[in-house]
Amino acid sequence: MSKRVKIGNIYVGGGEKIAIQSMSTYKLENIEECIKEAVLLEKKGCDIMRYSVLDALDAKSFSQLKKHTKMPLVADIHFDYKLALLSIDGGTDKIRINPGNIGSEQKVSEVARAIKQNGVAVRVGSNTGSIDKEFLDKYGKNEISLGESALKNVAILEKQGVENIVVSVKASSVPLMIKAYEYLSERIEYPLHLGVTEAGTEYVGIIKNSIGIGSLLSKGIGDTIRVSLSAEPIREVKCAKAILRSLGLIEEGAEIIACPTCGRCEWACMDMAKKVEEYLDGVDKPLKIAVMGCVVNGPGEAKDADLGVAGGKDKCVIFKKGEIIKNVDKKDVELEFFKEIDKCIR
Ligand code: SF4
Repeated sequence: MSKRVKIGNIYVGGGEKIAIQSMSTYKLENIEECIKEAVLLEKKGCDIMRYSVLDALDAKSFSQLKKHTKMPLVADIHFDYKLALLSIDGGTDKIRINPGNIGSEQKVSEVARAIKQNGVAVRVGSNTGSIDKEFLDKYGKNEISLGESALKNVAILEKQGVENIVVSVKASSVPLMIKAYEYLSERIEYPLHLGVTEAGTEYVGIIKNSIGIGSLLSKGIGDTIRVSLSAEPIREVKCAKAILRSLGLIEEGAEIIACPTCGRCEWACMDMAKKVEEYLDGVDKPLKIAVMGCVVNGPGEAKDADLGVAGGKDKCVIFKKGEIIKNVDKKDVELEFFKEIDKCIR
């Protein structure tokens, strides 16, 4: 099991719940937009939020953001150690920086001192675009060079006495990313931040993230996840929740079960499934709702569902745990089914 690391008011690792992260698409100078986004994402289940820090003003924005959200905030910094120090001063809970990129040992030790004094966490890591030249020359682009690049940064921080470390090794190739995290998990006990980098547009990205993050989590590897999509951060959080729910790692939220339909389907099953999904977005109560194509197989196939509906030629049935509780005319099914859903979520 990984070590437990404190990030703001939460812990990651050590068997704590898997924390969902996202990253703002706004610049911190648009502070009002950032605040609105943070409030929404926190409400929708995001646990940690990251922001690019480009200058001193950005670094000072964390104190303002923190007035509006309880989520731990992460400052993403590339090379400038002064921005790391200013962000810590500004109230960030974690910094994303590679000490190997900071420069002199004196600068690294200044950042390390600030991390320790303020109880801030730090994420170090590598991705296929930032593999250390030493390892790239020695091993080529593979899980070993990715893993060793991350471990080199870990070692720099350990030398400075920093222990609140989270590590990542991202790649856009799913098999490489899986092997790299396995490589790390065999060598260190720090919590791992899972992600597929540059995963692509939403459709392909969801598939790549689900396979990459999902297969590692199913082996017990990973403590916090960031689904990376070329889409709004809210879509990343939604996808992350669905991955965790599919693996049985969280119970909150409604799960929609819907059949693919076939020639036996004689009603607008897919439309109904979409409407139900939209209606239940944001409901935290653990609930399984089924929308099935036919009365012949629907109730039986979805007997796990807390509530379900299956359509016929003229009549539909509403059922609970496979037992039919109501027969309704097809024209009334939406109204009747949503009445039953309301009773369940109340
Ligand atoms: S539940 Fe009925 S409509 Fe849906 S796939 Fe099965 S047989 Fe076909």
